[in-house]
Amino acid sequence: MRRQLERTLWATVFLAVLLAPVLLAPLLHGPRTRNGSSLTSELLSELSVGIGLLATSMLVCAVALPSRLRTLTRTLGIDGVLGIHRFVGLAVILLVGLHIVLVVAAHPANMALFDVLHAPNRARTALGATVALGALVALTVLRRRLRHRYEVWRWVHVALAGTALVLSGLHIWLLHHLVRDAAMLALLAVLAVGVLGVLAYRWLWLPVLGARREYVVREIRPETSTVSTLVLEPRRHGARRGYRTLEFAPGQFAWLRLNPSVRAQEHPFTIASSAHLGLWTEFTIRHSGDFTRELRLLRPGSSVWVDGPHGAFTLDLRRTTGLVMIAGGVGITPMMSMLRTLAHRRDRRPHRLLVIARTVEDLLFRPEIRQLQQRLDLTVVELLRQPPPSWSGASGTVDEDLLTALLPGKFRRNQLDYYLCGPPALVTDVLTVLDGMDIPQPRIHTEQFDLV
Ligand SMILES: Cc1cc2nc3c(=O)[nH]c(=O)nc-3n(C[C@H](O)[C@H](O)[C@H](O)COP(=O)(O)OP(=O)(O)OC[C@H]3O[C@@H](n4cnc5c(N)ncnc54)[C@H](O)[C@@H]3O)c2cc1C
Repeated sequence: MRRQLERTLWATVFLAVLLAPVLLAPLLHGPRTRNGSSLTSELLSELSVGIGLLATSMLVCAVALPSRLRTLTRTLGIDGVLGIHRFVGLAVILLVGLHIVLVVAAHPANMALFDVLHAPNRARTALGATVALGALVALTVLRRRLRHRYEVWRWVHVALAGTALVLSGLHIWLLHHLVRDAAMLALLAVLAVGVLGVLAYRWLWLPVLGARREYVVREIRPETSTVSTLVLEPRRHGARRGYRTLEFAPGQFAWLRLNPSVRAQEHPFTIASSAHLGLWTEFTIRHSGDFTRELRLLRPGSSVWVDGPHGAFTLDLRRTTGLVMIAGGVGITPMMSMLRTLAHRRDRRPHRLLVIARTVEDLLFRPEIRQLQQRLDLTVVELLRQPPPSWSGASGTVDEDLLTALLPGKFRRNQLDYYLCGPPALVTDVLTVLDGMDIPQPRIHTEQFDLV
């Protein structure tokens, strides 16, 4: 109920931000002919203004979306937030292209505005914003091919988005005719204050708040040669203030950093422990790159700063008759949190877990999963992509035959909720299989361990 309300509220806010300036524009400047201009060129001009305003409000939404507003990530999930962010970002660049075409189509003499040396500042700011947006989209599309470090890409992305936003604002300001209207000026001011507020929350308030969310490493427990579990407990800030435990729903994640500074690297990791573990919070991490290797070198007593919980990949937001959890590699972490929590809650519903790993060594938490089977009604299937000759379990890829054997009949399987987590390629492949089996879309929940 609360989630539905939050969804409705966010949808209303986004629609209002997107549409208000566009709807206000024709009311203030209804089509009219000016000296020597034809009605067609005036209409094209008005259309270009409307499209430009829509592009600006979409840019505001694209900037606001990934600002870690917890109620937003809880409502849409991180995959949902980033999916909409990418879609809106692409729409902005298309609308900007259309805006430029319409500006020239309305008055072909406007071609002169492309001459950066002689063009007025209103055109220079527009060109600057367009170049920043183009570079932003190109760098995102080509990120994997260019093989830039994620952090470098992220800071360039943030800088280009900021540049595009500021230059778009200046472009509107220098156009004069929009800000001359009191109503439009007020609306644009509300948009500007709104986006500045969200950015201040993300880049000023969260780091300040984050500095108070200090945790201490209690233990680092090796799971395999490349994976270990980081056990954290809140740092006590004086006897009076006591502990600040992390309350989360099983399956949610948090951003970890090793330094409270806003410039410090921050990486997302799913909370693997039960939501009822009390003071301790556990993260199980594959040490695959520089940051995750640094985490492995932490010593008990070291500090870690936690921003969370975030995300909607949790069983606590839905009613269901049972869960089907499909996990690839370290994507088992949210499933462990859910299973451990369900065991704490003495859950009686039937659940199914399909674990996909490369080799036997990569199958995480095997002994604990067997113990959980004693406490829960849990069916487990392990699938290896590179099985040894002695392996008698499932191997290869996830297909319809494998899932049909794991799931109940068609009617009951459509009442279950499906949780998919792991590398993007695996999530996409399993989604295709589930789609082929006509599993209802709203019953499928995904989390990809990759943000770009
Ligand atoms: C919602 C979510 C939950 C996750 N949960 C877990 C988990 O429980 N256990 C686990 O081992 N891994 C988890 N990951 C993946 C983990 O965040 C990355 O493996 C980690 O950030 C890699 O950092 P690195 O510097 O060690 O490796 P790198 O080699 O630098 O990065 C490898 C890849 O990880 C991604 N990445 C790197 N830095 C970041 C960042 N700051 N933010 C987002 N993505 C980044 C990029 O796609 C990059 O190409 C999760 C990812 C997401 C999005």
